[in-house]
Amino acid sequence: CAKREGRRIGLYREGMDERHLRQLAIVGELRNAIEGDQFSLHYQPKVDLRTRRVRHVEALLRWTHPQLGRIGPDEFIPLAERAGLIGALTHWVIDHAFAELAAWRTAGFDHGVAINLSAIDLADPNLASTVLDRLQHHRVTAGDIILEVTESAVLADMERAVQTLKRLRSEGFRVSVDDFGTGQSSLAQLKRLPADELKIDKSFVLQLAPGTDDERIVQSIVQLGHALGIKVVAEGLENEIGLEVLLRLGCDVAQGYHFSRPLPCEALLDWLRRRQEQ
Ligand code: C2E
Ligand code: CA
Ligand code: CA
Ligand code: CA
Repeated sequence: CAKREGRRIGLYREGMDERHLRQLAIVGELRNAIEGDQFSLHYQPKVDLRTRRVRHVEALLRWTHPQLGRIGPDEFIPLAERAGLIGALTHWVIDHAFAELAAWRTAGFDHGVAINLSAIDLADPNLASTVLDRLQHHRVTAGDIILEVTESAVLADMERAVQTLKRLRSEGFRVSVDDFGTGQSSLAQLKRLPADELKIDKSFVLQLAPGTDDERIVQSIVQLGHALGIKVVAEGLENEIGLEVLLRLGCDVAQGYHFSRPLPCEALLDWLRRRQEQ
């Protein structure tokens, strides 16, 4: 035991830069954070471009550590995946998002929720039963829930992922292919995945404007999605110019700072109320 400790210290001394030390610290803190009260969910509206109504909000995980401060999901999710802690995090997210969904219904709101699943979640043979168990527990409806999966995520164990997603879809959940257009062989994945929604990666949307390659790429993805009978969502919509392009191209749903940043639950409900009053 002492020997192993020594080797680790040796490792620190030899090659570890600040980033690696931070990563080690984060992994070390993750477990406590899950048990403690350091995580929360923020919600970002997904706006139906025809009706301008919010049908769903995407749950995005936030972590505030007492000493390290705010740590972004782009940083800690990959670390949690590698440290074998993503399953516990996903359970936390599912439990809280479903509980919040139930509370929204009680308060008279009709929007559903979208949650992000990681590669490792989809390879977990127990995922479907966990999700169904939490669904019953919170008495929420599968039809109100979208599962956002990334293509690279699905690649990890394609057979298992397809099985899991088919099972959940047969129970009424909807499946969204996240970050579409990035990662490996988008089209091959789309052929095998049971998908209801395709989410154009924000890298094509952030600077979307008439006459750009972004516009031509978004146009092709919208056509592709519609040819397959799949709804198309644009994420990362930041301005009116982009919105006009999306409307012209017939994109179904948009999400981004132009409408709203991800908000804590109370702020989201205020935002929705103000919008209803308009
Ligand atoms: P994602 O699922 O692709 O989520 C979209 C990201 O884009 C979010 O970053 C969101 O805050 C950001 N975003 C939304 N609108 C705009 C915009 O108009 N402009 C710009 N520049 N950005 C915008 P966030 O919240 O930092 O999350 C990053 C990634 O972390 C997510 O990407 C997702 O892959 C992962 N993640 C977040 N929450 C969870 C979770 O609960 N579980 C899992 N497995 N992954 C999560
Ligand atoms: Ca997402
Ligand atoms: Ca995305
Ligand atoms: Ca992403």
